[in-house]
This record gives sequence, C-alpha cells and structure tokens, in this order.
Amino acid sequence: MTRPVQATIDVKALRANLQRVRQAAPDARVLAVIKANGYGHGMLRSAESLHEADGFGVASVEEGIVLRESGTAHPIVLLEGFFDPSELPDLARHRLSTVVHHERQVRLLERADLNRPLTVWLKIDTGMHRLGFAPSEAANIYRRLQACRSVAPRIRLMTHLARSDERGDPTVDGQLDLFQSAIEGLSGERSIANSAAILHVPRAHADWVRPGLMLYGASPFPDSTARQEGLRPVMSFLSRLIAINYLHRGDTVSYGGTWTCPEDMPIGVLAVGYGDGYPRLIKPDTPVWIRGRRAPIVGRVCMDMMCIDLRGIPEPEVGDEAELWGTRLPIEEIARSAGTIPYELLCGVAPRVPFTEI
Ligand SMILES: *Cc1c(COP(=O)(O)O)cnc(C)c1O
Repeated sequence: MTRPVQATIDVKALRANLQRVRQAAPDARVLAVIKANGYGHGMLRSAESLHEADGFGVASVEEGIVLRESGTAHPIVLLEGFFDPSELPDLARHRLSTVVHHERQVRLLERADLNRPLTVWLKIDTGMHRLGFAPSEAANIYRRLQACRSVAPRIRLMTHLARSDERGDPTVDGQLDLFQSAIEGLSGERSIANSAAILHVPRAHADWVRPGLMLYGASPFPDSTARQEGLRPVMSFLSRLIAINYLHRGDTVSYGGTWTCPEDMPIGVLAVGYGDGYPRLIKPDTPVWIRGRRAPIVGRVCMDMMCIDLRGIPEPEVGDEAELWGTRLPIEEIARSAGTIPYELLCGVAPRVPFTEI
C-alpha cells in the first residue's frame, strides 16, 4: 500500500492542446516549452507526447542534453542561453541552439573554437526588461554574430511580451512595433508569442510560437479557465480520505485551532499537504472535489495532510478519492485562491508525488 496521493497525466490532452496551438497559429512553427520538468509534468514524457511539435524550448544545457540523449532529433533551444563558456562544447556536441541576450555571450562566441557552429536566437528587449539587447543595438549585434565562426548562418530573432496576458493591453502593440523596427533589414525567422499571445494576439504569431502553459491545459489569463480557452487539463492532482472524524460544535481543527466547528459534524482528512506541493496559504473555503461535489478545506493545510468539511458530501467513506485540481476542479481557481498562478502550482508538485499516465 502506498500513501494515497498521486498526479495523473493525460497524454492525450497534451496532444489535443498542441492541436489547439496549431489551430490558433496555423502558419507558425511550434517550439514546445518543456522547461522546469515540463511544467511539472515530466520533461521526457511531455516531449514524447508532443513529438509532433517542431522543436523544444528548455532552460538549461542539462535539460537539453537529457532531451537529446533520449533520442529526439528536434531543434532544442536554450531559452536563457548559455551561462558559462564551458557549456559551449556541449551545445555543439548535442546540437543545442541558444538564445543570445547579452554582450558577454557574444564575446564568448567570438572567442570560441567549436567543431560545429551553433544556431543562435538573438533576443531583443522590447519592454519586458529582463533579457535582451536594446533595440538600438540589435543590428550591430546581429552583424557581430554573423561574422562569428561559431555561429551558424540564418540567425533567428526573438522578443518576449511582458503583458500578453492582459487582454487589450496597449504595451503589447508597442512592443510589437518596437520589435519590427529593431529588426528592419535583418533577415531571419522571428518568434514572439507565448501562450497568452498565441491565444489572443494574432499579430505576434510570426514564424515560431513558444507555447508553455497552454500545452499543459491551463489558461494563462487571470479571468478564464482552460475549458474556456479550448484547452484540456493534463494534470489531475489526487488524494484520498484516510479518516473521517465526527467532531462536536466548538471543536477546533488542525494546527493553531484556526477553524472551529459551528455544529456537530464530520471532518475528513486527506493524505496530501504542502509537502506534496499543495499551497499552504489559501483563501477560506477553497474546495476539493469529492463524490461529485465540492468540499471546503478547513483549518491549516499541514505538510502531509489537510482537513475538509464533509457536511455537504453524501455518505463519505474512508478511501474516497478527492481531486485537488485537474479535470473537475480548475487549477486557475485554486491558483487564484492561493494568490498565485497555475504555473507555480504545476511546477511545485513535489518529487515524492508519484505520477501515472492515463
Ligand atoms: C517559459 C517561456 C515561454 C512559455 O511561456 P508560457 O506563458 O508558459 O506559454 C515562452 N518564451 C520564453 C522565452 C519562455 O521563457
């Protein structure tokens, strides 16, 4: 018998969400972003399920090597670029493409002596102000890269939007205009759009789109759910009732006694807590899904357990399955309740939680 907590991964839903990307951006190639262990879904599992994508985006050379050694022949792009010159021979050996966003990287490439030139994505900062060259520097850096023996012909051009998840935000158009003027006269495939821009900013689709979150079946917008965006949740986070206790009016529940039973009532205990990646800080009445209904979590979430109010649940039994988020309880709602975003919840499922493909 194992501890009753698990995450199920619906690989058909992953593939369906890739189709949703294709439908939204029919003329673009798709760089499926599988960094952070495939947003918590398993990097290799995600890559395998998404083999119909045109390439993969990762955050580190280590991720890129694992992916390449698993046998994928797709382009693999390091979205933050390389961090140290010692990584360059690995990039060449494993045919990993790299983002170049900083002058130091250009200097290192100019000095490098590689046995195979690298495919480079020149990143321009049009307003995110995180990574990238100023638009005024773009043409100069492009020419320096062109002159580099260690850089393959056909430099690609990219930028990243800061507010694509805010529908109708005027800075999005501003960033797109700036990108266009920065790359004027430079040839190369272009990439701009993350999930939010794929779904709602057609002008940003360009040659390659870079979906992450939407592939995993969550909405990038604060005000919609996956279903409303035509997406299917991939992960369901599940546990089971391991105890039902009949408490009395006035009894308090869990650490600190922060919740008090308003009447004699049944309280259920689920074998899942913040040690599994469920957020400890949630708004009152955040639900779980059990026996086809919602039951509110009561008292503090513990490391390995949490308590739920079973008053509204018909004939609960120890062993009943509960969903924390997934196909029946939208992760967007739980994220909002925890003051965070679905990205953080998905990435945060703890390594001790076993995964099952369905
Ligand atoms: C993570 C990442 C993405 C994917 O963003 P989503 O919002 O998950 O679609 C796209 N581009 C870059 C550069 C990224 O780092």
